[in-house]
Amino acid sequence: MSVEQIDTLVIGAGQSGIAMSEHLSDMKVPHLVLERKRVAEAWRSQRWDSLVANGPAWHDRFPNLEFDDIGPDVFPPKERMAKYFEDYAAMIEAPVRTGVEVKQVKRCEKRPGFTVTTSEGVIEAQRVVAATGPFQVPDYPKIVPDAAGIQQFHSSAYKNPGQLADGAVLVVGGGASGSQIAEELRACGKTVYLSIGEHYRPPRAYRERDYVWWLGVLGKWDEIKTNSKKKHVAFAVSGYDGGKTVDFRRLAHQGITVLGLTKGYANGVLEIENDLAANIKAGDEAYFDVLREADAYVTRNDLDLPEEPDAWKLLDDPACVRSPILQLDLAKTGIKTIIWATGFKFDFSWLQVDAFDANGAPFHKRGISAETGIYFLGLPELTNRASSFIYGCWHDAKYIADHIALQRVYVAYEKR
Ligand SMILES: Cc1cc2nc3c(=O)[nH]c(=O)nc-3n(C[C@H](O)[C@H](O)[C@H](O)COP(=O)(O)OP(=O)(O)OC[C@H]3O[C@@H](n4cnc5c(N)ncnc54)[C@H](O)[C@@H]3O)c2cc1C
Repeated sequence: MSVEQIDTLVIGAGQSGIAMSEHLSDMKVPHLVLERKRVAEAWRSQRWDSLVANGPAWHDRFPNLEFDDIGPDVFPPKERMAKYFEDYAAMIEAPVRTGVEVKQVKRCEKRPGFTVTTSEGVIEAQRVVAATGPFQVPDYPKIVPDAAGIQQFHSSAYKNPGQLADGAVLVVGGGASGSQIAEELRACGKTVYLSIGEHYRPPRAYRERDYVWWLGVLGKWDEIKTNSKKKHVAFAVSGYDGGKTVDFRRLAHQGITVLGLTKGYANGVLEIENDLAANIKAGDEAYFDVLREADAYVTRNDLDLPEEPDAWKLLDDPACVRSPILQLDLAKTGIKTIIWATGFKFDFSWLQVDAFDANGAPFHKRGISAETGIYFLGLPELTNRASSFIYGCWHDAKYIADHIALQRVYVAYEKR
């Protein structure tokens, strides 16, 4: 039986896979996109019901299609994001095959290319682009044993407050997910504890410009991580409730008990790090840095953007910051649910090629891996800070498509 052949196989039809398809088509590279579920599946089933995009509609999109039913400054709901990518795939006539899972990729023996084993049979591809997402497998520390009898799940499994057991809830994680989920649960009357660590919480907007605009004009989307050992810090930005700055003091004044890092558990009591005040202070400093840089930019370019003195004022430190809780008794506080908003890890076990470093992390330069013919797209910091976001992956995909087109020229060469 003959095996299906394709030049370039793209795995995953999220925003990255679709962007890849657009650029490969532009470069006339024959390709196929395999998706184990549906187009933009992550936006459909791995996000909570009320989630809206973290960036406004004018920004969180690809260059070649605007939202036609949403104002430019509105944060599109997650279902609308999924529809956007579905519409986009249709617009560019992306050759997407849904419901097909890639189980294994291996280099072919004694001939170029890769043998790709899928749930629907084998395909041979000359090149493979792994566009399987920046956030693949939910990751949370197993601090609280199942025997504790607490409902526990990862933020990617959170849908809405109705899912939670009666009683109080602890949300662990001070990034975009944790802070938004905690606020939603508090707004619907839950008793909420929120455990946070180091974080980066820029202003949502300043001087009539959204933060995404400031990142753009200040050149911060282009920032390249130079220190690979630098600790990842939770990025707390949100489009919730029309878009507001994530402010842990405000959340505390709304009735959420904010805590330091959750570090241990014994006999029904959680041990909390005494780091809350220091982390909030560090978060403030980074926030003020953005305001300072923005002001300098306005002055330097003589822009007519109104001053915003209120943005410089901090709320009073709430009691939970002044006298931090270091031991949290789950029974006494009535906590029946813990939501771990602690991030994700990779699972590339299916990609059995020499494209990983000693720690098992993808080894690549701008998505071009150490194994010729294998590419990565959509990973955090693939090229720069924008790489795992909508506006970033599209540009990274263009670079990879260009590289693939060039490789095809080499392969096609014949001496005349
Ligand atoms: C809660 C949350 C909110 C976010 N909000 C924003 C935002 O507002 N703006 C923004 O720019 N970014 C946002 N992001 C970041 C990023 O844009 C999303 O994570 C986005 O889904 C990444 O797109 P992707 O195509 O790279 O990966 P994914 O959307 O994860 O797509 C990967 C696809 O690959 C498929 N797949 C995986 N393995 C296989 C396999 N073996 N075979 C076949 N198919 C496979 C999956 O089913 C999936 O559809 C958010 C992330 C999270 C977690």
